[in-house]
This record gives sequence, C-alpha cells and structure tokens, in this order.
Amino acid sequence: MNKKTNKNDESNNKNKKWKFGVAYIVAVFGLIMLFNYGRSALYTKQITYDEFITLLDNKQIQEVSITRDKISIEPKKDTSYGNKVLYTANIGDKDLVQNLKASGVKFSGPLASNPLLLEILISWIGPLLFLLLIGRLMFGKIDKKMGGGVMSFGKNTAKLYAEDQTGLTFKDVAGQEEAKESLKEIVDFLHQPQKYTQIGAKLPKGALLVGPPGTGKTLLAKAVAGEAHVPFFSLSGSDFVEMFVGMGAARVRDLFKQAEEKAPCIIFIDEIDAIGKSRDNTMSSNDEREQTLNQLLSEMDGFDATKGVVILGATNRPEILDKALLRPGRFDRRVIVDRPDLKGREDILKVHSRDVKMGGEVDLTSIAKATPGAVGADLANMVNEAALRAVKQGRNEVIQEDLEEAVEVIIAGKEKRDRIMSDKEKRIVSFHEVGHALVAALLKNTDPVHKITIVPRTMGSLGYTLQLPDEEKYLVSKEEMMDQITVMLGGRAAEEVEFKSISTGASNDIERATQTARNMVTMYGMTEEFDMMALESMSSRYLDGRPVQNCSAKTAARIDEVTLEIIKECHKRAINILNDNRALLTKISERLLEKETLLGEEFMSIVREDKDALEENTNTVLQ
Ligand code: ADP
Ligand code: MG
Ligand code: ZN
Repeated sequence: MNKKTNKNDESNNKNKKWKFGVAYIVAVFGLIMLFNYGRSALYTKQITYDEFITLLDNKQIQEVSITRDKISIEPKKDTSYGNKVLYTANIGDKDLVQNLKASGVKFSGPLASNPLLLEILISWIGPLLFLLLIGRLMFGKIDKKMGGGVMSFGKNTAKLYAEDQTGLTFKDVAGQEEAKESLKEIVDFLHQPQKYTQIGAKLPKGALLVGPPGTGKTLLAKAVAGEAHVPFFSLSGSDFVEMFVGMGAARVRDLFKQAEEKAPCIIFIDEIDAIGKSRDNTMSSNDEREQTLNQLLSEMDGFDATKGVVILGATNRPEILDKALLRPGRFDRRVIVDRPDLKGREDILKVHSRDVKMGGEVDLTSIAKATPGAVGADLANMVNEAALRAVKQGRNEVIQEDLEEAVEVIIAGKEKRDRIMSDKEKRIVSFHEVGHALVAALLKNTDPVHKITIVPRTMGSLGYTLQLPDEEKYLVSKEEMMDQITVMLGGRAAEEVEFKSISTGASNDIERATQTARNMVTMYGMTEEFDMMALESMSSRYLDGRPVQNCSAKTAARIDEVTLEIIKECHKRAINILNDNRALLTKISERLLEKETLLGEEFMSIVREDKDALEENTNTVLQ
C-alpha cells in the first residue's frame, strides 16, 4: 500500500507562512551576528600600533602572524591580556621584521591554528545548525496545531491519507453480505459514471456506515475503493476536534478540492459523529465543530456528483448526528454493519485463517458457535492469539485447542495457574461453579453447559462456567430469562446450601442477574404490574449504551421493588434445586476439585447417571 501524507493546508497558509519565514530568517542572522560579536569581544582585542611596539619592546609577545592588512598578536601568558588574541592594523612598517627578530618572537603568515574553514564552521555553520534545531522544536509544536507546515520544519501530522489503491476487495470482508450488496451500486457507479448520467439518474452522494465498533466499517470503505480501483481519501472526525478555529473548515474545503481533482474517488470520513453532532444540543456548543460541519454540508451540496466523488462516513452513534447531514443529497443512504451471525462469524474466521497455517482437523464452525456477540475485530484477534499460542508451544500449525484457548482468553483473560488458592477457597469456588452448572442442567430453558473450570483467569474470575447455545437465538422468552437469572444465582445458592455461609465471589453474578431482571420490568414488558409500558430506553445502541429512565421517581421506586421480587423468586428456586440434589452437587464438585476442568459431556454424563438411578425423580427435567 502506498500511503502518502498530503500537505493539505499549504495554499491557505501561504501568506502567513511567508511572513513567518522572513521574520525567522532575519532573527537567525541577527542572532548569529550577535554570537560572533560576543565571541570576538571575549577572545580578541584590538590595540594600537604603538601599544604593539611597546609590548614588543617589553618582550611580552609569544608569537605573531602577519597578513596583508592585519597583524595578530599572541601575548605571553603572564601578561595582563591573558588568553586573548590581540590584533592591530598592518601599517607597512619596514622595521617590523627587524624588531620582531630583535625581541625573539616567532612570526609567520596567517595563523595556521585557525584556518579559514574552521573559522567559518565555528562562527556560522555551528550556530546556524543550533538555531535550526531550536526552530524545529518550537515551530514544530505550533505547526502541529495549525496543521500546515511553517517553513516545512515540523511534520504535518494531519491524518489525511490518500491511497491510490487500498488493495482490499469485498473478499476481505466477510459476514456483511447485506452491506456489501448495498455498496455494490456505488462501486458500479465509480466504475462507469456515464452509464448513470446518461439516463439522468442521480447517484447517492454519500452513504453512512452504521454499526458497533470493530464490525468492519473502515474495512468496507476501503474495500469499496479497492473494488472500484479508485483513490481513497480518508480523514477521521476526531482530527478536527483539537484544531484552531477555522482550520477544520479549511481542511474540509481542501479535502474536497483534492478529491475532485482525482475523481472518480472515495472520500471516507471515519467517526463522523465527532463533527456531525447535532447542533441544537446547545449544552456544549462548539463553534469550531459547527463551522466544520457547515463547511462539510456546503461542500457536499456544492460538488458535482456526476464527476464520481462518493463520500462514505462511518459512525457508531447515528442517533446524535445532525439531521442536516442525513437529508437526501447528503448521507442519504444508511448501510447497517451489524454484529455478524453464526455463518458470518465462521466466514470471518475463514478470511483470517487464510494467512495462518491451520491444522487439518480445525473446526471453525464450533469456534463460531462459541463466540456469540463477537465482532470481526474480535475474531481476527482470536485467530492471531491462536497462532501466537501455537508458536509459543513450538508447533508450526494452529490446532483446535489453540483456537479454543484463544476464545477463552478473550472471554475471561489468560490463565493464571501460578495463583495459589487455599484448599478451602478452591472448595468454595468449585461448589460455586458447579452450582451454576447444575442449575443450568436441571432447568429446561437454558443453554447447555460447555465447560466448568476452577483455573483462575487474569480478568478476575476464580473459575467460570461456560454455557453455549446450540443455535443462534434472536428472541428470548420470559421463561428463558427467568431461568437465566436462576442460573446466575445458582453459584451463590450452592455456597449457601453447602457451607451455610456466603462469600464475595458472586458480585458479578449479582450484577448481571439484577440487570436482566430490571430489563424484564422496564424494557420488555414482562411483568403484570407495568404491563407493556416503556420505562427505560436504550441510548447509543451500537455502543454498550446505558439505559435511560423515563418515568417518575415514584415509579422508579416501584420498579426496584418488582425487580427485587423477581430476584428473590429465582434465588429461592436455585436453592430448592440444589437442596434437592445435594449429593449430586457434592459429587461433581469433588470431581471438579480433582480435575480443575470438566467438559460439558463429562459433566452431563455424571448428571445423567445420577438421574437414571433415581428414576422416580420426575420433577426436574433433563435436556
Ligand atoms: P470498525 O471501523 O467498524 O470499527 P474496522 O473496519 O476497523 O472496524 O475493523 C478492524 C479489523 O477487524 C479489520 O482490520 C479486520 O481485520 C477485522 N474485521 C472486522 N470486521 C471484519 C469482517 N467483516 N471481515 C473480515 N475482517 C473483519
Ligand atoms: Mg473504524
Ligand atoms: Zn458465579
């Protein structure tokens, strides 16, 4: 990829820079003169010819060098002149040589110890370099803020990239078939604009890629440029934020100018929400951002769409964008780039395994199943983690185990086998985890247990139980949610049942259970009390948005009560299940203590064995 940074603000700053430059040069020369004057005042002194003769007569002179118009005199060390070099005019004294001989002074032509070249080096080039260095440091800083080069000392740090060829195609983007489909038209348009203009069809000037971070928005934009074989100009919205007033607008203007010269091409504005925030939000009004936005709006209106410049924007907060940006003629198309589904995840894993040596028995489908909710960036990261693990273990290909471990590292952090836990603590953790697993196994509407482990991980867990769905689910029923909460509370319940005491180990379970219960009340309309009333709404749903409450304080208090009722009910259920199956709980916990990790099948076979022996126990349902 040939990336080159453009100096884009040159023309706007030319005048200013000129003045700066001239002032700078004058200052530099002034300083050097001053430096040389100071140096000569320190080390040399002019004397009159008669003073010279007196010194000569007193035999106070060490050495003399004579040029056509000047005599340099080096006095003896013990005179009042010390180390200074004296000089006087050469008045053409015919007796000079005679006198010098008489007082025994060494004399010669120009001083050999200080040749011309060295003189120039010391008095001009040295200081010049020094001042340039200082200038670089000083102006470099200003430069960064202004975004233009002052005398091109500083580096232009603006992140405007122009790539002639991105080298990426739609093949590099997996699991975003709908998004690709809607972008194909843009590719076609860039290929042959005349096909569209002939009929008089106007093409969308811009499309907005919307989705959570890491789903491949930037990648898609580059792929569009790559597919169409056109240059790719990109700029990140956040680059505008810290600039001087007026610079953002100037940069937008410049960007469009450059792009139009290179048309057909793609302009990509990443994180467009940084400039495109709605303007009516007067709480934090920001002149600079508004100017930049206005400039962007007018440029989008102004440029000739038939030329083949297409603007792509990317954001994960579409709801805060200014309406003016979204109206027809601007970013009128919205391309959703959402989290990939099962098939999508598998495809993404495939794309990223192309460059990695995979062992024959690697099963990417099962890895895709194990990673619901993961985005493309996560999956790319997982493949890389797996490859790193393979290298670490001295293998030359990635095996299934590497991938599985990589998934767990992303979910729960790295294993921390060196953490030493007391036997008592280990026992508590073991019962806690089996508590979760057993409740999950004995309830009907839950995902199967995939793995139980009490190996601590770096992200703070002392052990965990991994449940994985058989298939991708998009809807969750009320019964399933209740069972989920019961499973989350099963860990603590096991501690109560076995040890009659409780520990801090359940804090994360409690947090998640409470959130699920609260969502049932406030967002999903699953309680009789509030029926189908919306009590909370989600803000910024593509990020991990916080719910915003929209009800009275009185209702809020009541919501808390209803949530608590749900939690209490589930807690009681978990305790009952575990009390009914205490022997089984103990048996599996002992086994886990001994082996540290139990896989789903092993776990289920113990549960089944036990249930077959107790055929009459028909209340609980096995899956
Ligand atoms: P976004 O801009 O949406 O935050 P990026 O496009 O920067 O995400 O994606 C980051 C990286 O994750 C990409 O460079 C790529 O390696 C990987 N990636 C993300 N989504 C996909 C995808 N759909 N297919 C293949 N790789 C992906
Ligand atoms: Mg991005
Ligand atoms: Zn737990």
